[in-house]
Amino acid sequence: MSAGRPRTADRVAVLSGGIGGVKLVEGLTELLPGDALSVICNTGDDLELWGLHVSPDVDTVLYTLSGLVNREQGWGVESDTYEALEMVKRYGEATWFLLGDRDIGTHLLRTSMLRQGRRLTEVTLELARRLGIGARVIPATDDPVRTFVLTPDGELDFQTYFVRRRFEPPVEEVRFHGADDAVPSPEAAAALLTASTILIAPSNPVASIGPMLAVRGFRQALAQAGGLRVAISPLIGGEAVKGPTVQMMEATNLPATPIGVAQAYEGLIDALVIDRQDVAYKPELEEFGLSVLATDTLMEGFEGRLRLAAEVLDYCSVLGLKRAREREPGPRKEPGPRAVD
Ligand code: GDP
Repeated sequence: MSAGRPRTADRVAVLSGGIGGVKLVEGLTELLPGDALSVICNTGDDLELWGLHVSPDVDTVLYTLSGLVNREQGWGVESDTYEALEMVKRYGEATWFLLGDRDIGTHLLRTSMLRQGRRLTEVTLELARRLGIGARVIPATDDPVRTFVLTPDGELDFQTYFVRRRFEPPVEEVRFHGADDAVPSPEAAAALLTASTILIAPSNPVASIGPMLAVRGFRQALAQAGGLRVAISPLIGGEAVKGPTVQMMEATNLPATPIGVAQAYEGLIDALVIDRQDVAYKPELEEFGLSVLATDTLMEGFEGRLRLAAEVLDYCSVLGLKRAREREPGPRKEPGPRAVD
């Protein structure tokens, strides 16, 4: 670890969705002590299926950080089987939402803990601990917030739009049901408040970070946070590495460029990390008052995750030092030469 990186006592909070966000998170876990990192997760994609509470983004984080993830897919458990789902199919149920047998084990345990009256955050922290994960994995809220997509075929819940309809229907609007009545989980609020660095992972700003920002009080907590706030753009050359980020940004009147990412996080970030391919946007972003790092943001393999995480942490420590220097009182005036009569 280089001398400038956040020190052990420094706390880092990272806001993450699923597959894209967790790549950076995985890199961060290699560089920071477990207890220094809080991963605040999206729950807008959560669903109830045959009585089970499924948290797809939280599970992608849990499986990745515990080493259980199916690396090829980027989600689900490695070498999982689908016997339970086959049985459900025999009863004539629709089985387009894939739940592996091992994955179902997580949902059974989560649901049973929730039924005992425990909060989603308590349950998630417990699951992470039992999987041997050092970082704190924290849902953004304990309250039900659900993402819906308005299309010409009507309002679709996020998984119907994303998995069943393969994000083909044009997006007219994105809605977060329940967000007005939701509040940040106390653990998420505390993580934002105590972090010296807050990162927004390269996740879909609308579908993954949007549900968190829609929670009453979450945006304010981020706006007022004392830590350095840095987002990493999920777009490279105007395209998403994967998924419907471009469609969803355009539907919410955000250009699919680093400018759109900066607009999505207006007033909430101090700096933006963009891809080298998008360096032409740097001057305009700086005019918005943002510090900008242009680098190679594609995270290929484990090395790529580690490299970007290290670059981001180094950049944060440079910005942190700069900030501290700017806050120092100006140089004291040296007393002039004593007048000699
Ligand atoms: P989801 O909840 O599983 O859809 O995952 P996220 O919202 O966390 O991630 C989706 C976003 O990750 C997409 O916008 C991708 O462009 C972005 N993404 C995936 N891999 C990379 C990468 O290696 N680098 C960057 N910069 N973005 C990535």
